[in-house]
Amino acid sequence: MKVLLTGGSGFIAAHCVDILLKHDHDVVFTVRSDEKGQKILKNHPGTPSSKLSYVIVKDIAQENAFDEAVKSDLPFEAVLHTASPFHFNVTDVKKDLLDPAIIGTTGILKAVKKSAPSVKRVVVTSSFASIINPAKHPEKYSEEHWNPITQEEAVQNPSNGYRASKTFAEKAAWDFVEKEKPNFQLSTINPPLVLGPVVHYLNSLDGINTSNERIANMIQGKCKEKGLPPTGTFLWVDVRDVALAHVKAAEVPDAAGKRFFVTAGYMSNGEIAQIIKKNFPDLVDKLPTNLDSDRPKDLFGYDNSRSKEVLGIKYNNLEETIKDTVKSLLAVVEIQQHGYQKSCHIDKD
Ligand code: NDP
Repeated sequence: MKVLLTGGSGFIAAHCVDILLKHDHDVVFTVRSDEKGQKILKNHPGTPSSKLSYVIVKDIAQENAFDEAVKSDLPFEAVLHTASPFHFNVTDVKKDLLDPAIIGTTGILKAVKKSAPSVKRVVVTSSFASIINPAKHPEKYSEEHWNPITQEEAVQNPSNGYRASKTFAEKAAWDFVEKEKPNFQLSTINPPLVLGPVVHYLNSLDGINTSNERIANMIQGKCKEKGLPPTGTFLWVDVRDVALAHVKAAEVPDAAGKRFFVTAGYMSNGEIAQIIKKNFPDLVDKLPTNLDSDRPKDLFGYDNSRSKEVLGIKYNNLEETIKDTVKSLLAVVEIQQHGYQKSCHIDKD
């Protein structure tokens, strides 16, 4: 299958590239600059340009940003749309979060409908942010739940802004399919906090992707004095499982028209820190003394059965994921005082 992958420089997208190639698909990814595109290609030596190449899409918040990217001599059969801002360092929620998420999502769907009739499946990276209702948790979260966040709440702060960006973008995608009846079918992948190994050629520890930031902070001693921060939503998933879910959603006929709530289960910052303590004795002095978990006993439930049944996902466990993540972070930047090697091998799916 020939696949267009947006946001190729992203944390999740890097793993999508690996799994797409492993499943023998041809991949064209979008990036904002030649520099990023070339770095990714260089990290796949021996992969011919017929299997892996890139196109530049500078800003997904621009209407028509994807109009040229969806055109290809050998036509695309599937699109994975992962590009969307995921950070809280914003000055203008609408411009920095809502517009790129919403216009980016509707933009690619419009472009595919107009110029890529061969595409049969579009998979959009949504989020648990589009599912969660922080004011009133249901007994058990599943794909049937939607975040009720409003336009007014969206612009109140960056955290609301991010959750709204994912909710409104996903809603816009389903509305588009219902109204426009395009040539393709839609699936969405809805992960909570995504943890897992980073591709070290793209990152410095300071510029680490948002969801791994808490682990990077722990191993750099940034929580030592202040203590572990509150966990947040207590659900997580391994990035390799998220990437596999994207690829399977493009491959499996039954995935059409479905949301997939992909989660491995519960976690807390305390549990993560305890795993680091157990597996990386040299990092113990970077951690605070209190590693207690703040996870309440009576948390909401979750139902991830659709992802297992339709996509065949078998979730990685927290300990393995944290071990692989820490190894990958140590490989990004040698922590000089501990003398770690940069060349640390991480098994990928
Ligand atoms: P990253 O920040 O690593 O990746 C985001 C990608 O989107 C990057 O490639 C980035 O490009 C691109 N991007 C952002 N804004 C624009 C823009 N205006 N124009 C062009 N490209 C843009 O994050 P993740 O890999 O974690 O996130 C990928 C997707 O997964 C997002 O849709 C996110 O909302 C979703 N998600 C992530 C979760 C997580 O815990 N990581 C949880 C749930 C959902 P560049 O590198 O050039 O900035």
